[in-house]
Amino acid sequence: MIQITMPLNFLGSVYREIRQALVDMGEMFDLLEQPAEVQDKPNAPALKINGGEIAFDHVEFGYDANRPILKGVDFTVGAGETVAIVGPSGSGKSTIGRLLFRFFDVNAGALRIDGQDIRDVTQESLHQAIGVVPQDTVLFNDTILYNIAYGREGASQTEIEDAAKAAKIYDFIMSLPDGFDTQVGERGLKLSGGEKQRVGIARTLLKNPPILLLDEATSALDTETERDIQDSLKAMGQGRSVITIAHRLSTIADSDRIIVLEKGVITEVGTHDELLANNARYAAMWQRQQSEEDAA
Ligand code: ADP
Ligand code: MG
Repeated sequence: MIQITMPLNFLGSVYREIRQALVDMGEMFDLLEQPAEVQDKPNAPALKINGGEIAFDHVEFGYDANRPILKGVDFTVGAGETVAIVGPSGSGKSTIGRLLFRFFDVNAGALRIDGQDIRDVTQESLHQAIGVVPQDTVLFNDTILYNIAYGREGASQTEIEDAAKAAKIYDFIMSLPDGFDTQVGERGLKLSGGEKQRVGIARTLLKNPPILLLDEATSALDTETERDIQDSLKAMGQGRSVITIAHRLSTIADSDRIIVLEKGVITEVGTHDELLANNARYAAMWQRQQSEEDAA
């Protein structure tokens, strides 16, 4: 970690951006293995946020030319809406998040935020607009303070403390002998999965992005911790446009809309009640998970 972070600290904002992306996307994606195929256009303007509406317009995408992953994916997340994406593993859910972050460009169709094609704006401004809570928040081998402050350069101590309070991790931090100066990570205090996710939530709250991407943000947690953290995630989603990818359907049942993705194709869209009434794929998934929970 030292070899990586030292030069990054020296090289300024470009590298900070890459490191931010690495932290944000966490395990989702290994940026260092990817060619830098996505470039800003010359003189690209910054993304202008006006509510944060996200539009996937008939998006076609494959990592390899001969293997399509997303096939005509078409949906809109209105400003301030929460849209959930569910579906079997490998159906392309996380790929949707990677495209939103513009780690890759679409093969056909377009992806727009507030009417602007994300290929036409700077990646820096795009990344600034999106907060990501991945399945596992990556912590730096540094203090808790640093790990939260990382969300936004120049944040004040009060802002950092407020973010920790809103993420409901403040009391835990204050109970530690070194408080916010506690070293965490491999050589420091090992935080539980739930505590790490709360640090991730605090970091994202500090960043204060208009758009949120939650990719299985609670899947690695036990059911009780998941329920506990769900409130914080929901509060964070207030006033933002949210795409939430989830395995446990009980965590997304109250979304404005639920999209079922199967093999890169949207097969169902609706509210929880509408999809239950449809009595198709979502209803079957719901019933299976309900009976699993009853058995447990
Ligand atoms: P989900 O999140 O729904 O489980 P993903 O979007 O991660 O699915 O993956 C969709 C498909 O794309 C899978 O078949 C996966 O193997 C493939 N895939 C994911 N990432 C890459 C990559 N970097 N290169 C090639 N194929 C990939
Ligand atoms: Mg995934």
